[in-house]
Amino acid sequence: MSEKVRKTIIAGNWKMNKLRNEAQELATAIVAGTKGRDNLPDILLCPPFTSLDIVVQTAKDSAIQVGAQNVEYHDAGAFTGEVSPPMLIDAGVTHVIIGHSERRQFFGETNQTVPLKVKAALAHKLTPIVCVGELLDERENDLTDPVVKRQVGAALNGLTEDEVKSVILAYEPVWAIGTGQVCESKEAARVVGLIRKTLTQFFQQDKDGPDMVPILYGGSMNAKNAEELLAQDEIDGGLIGGASLKADEFLEIVNHACKRPRLSAAKA
Ligand code: PEP
Repeated sequence: MSEKVRKTIIAGNWKMNKLRNEAQELATAIVAGTKGRDNLPDILLCPPFTSLDIVVQTAKDSAIQVGAQNVEYHDAGAFTGEVSPPMLIDAGVTHVIIGHSERRQFFGETNQTVPLKVKAALAHKLTPIVCVGELLDERENDLTDPVVKRQVGAALNGLTEDEVKSVILAYEPVWAIGTGQVCESKEAARVVGLIRKTLTQFFQQDKDGPDMVPILYGGSMNAKNAEELLAQDEIDGGLIGGASLKADEFLEIVNHACKRPRLSAAKA
């Protein structure tokens, strides 16, 4: 019987911030702050497209991986302004955020386009970080659970069990993103637990499958509230926006993640 361990992941979503020299400076400080340390969580930096190469270069020979914030689902062709999975792989990227609420809100991302992007990313061995979460209005009308279940169901529709196991999910209540209004830790853990239950529909063969998918929390996580959020067994890490733009604060969150016991989530 071998033990399978679910990863702890700390991912920084830099959104549309940092010029190339600033991105290099931030990545350099994070690399320096994590160098030579044991028992780190998986650390991921997601700069804008224009800084992907410089961050990949800066993180070379470190434990830090680099993700993009969006991807197109076609490989190539007449899609002006878009960036494809092979292009991201070519740039040294390993992960990509898909379905972030800002993309759903401002750039027409939907429950129809998200699964196409997830499939395309997986086909090229990019790890998708799929964001789901309810709007304030939906929470106030007791629609959190159905909205989140629908988003998860749509995003993973048609994937094989192995493909679902290659996805990272992030519960990001939209009202908590960039607002300073963090979701209460027990409630965040409850919704993450609900997402994990929702995953059972994708696993006919491997009953341990749902326990192997990392599920992060995102929404105003910072150095002050990270400890309590990361102390929740259900929550496997954080997707961090604003607080990932300062090396010291991001590294403090990494430190809180280091204290988190690695979960023995599934046995095989
Ligand atoms: C995000 O952009 O995914 C996010 C969680 O942002 P913030 O931490 O700023 O709320």
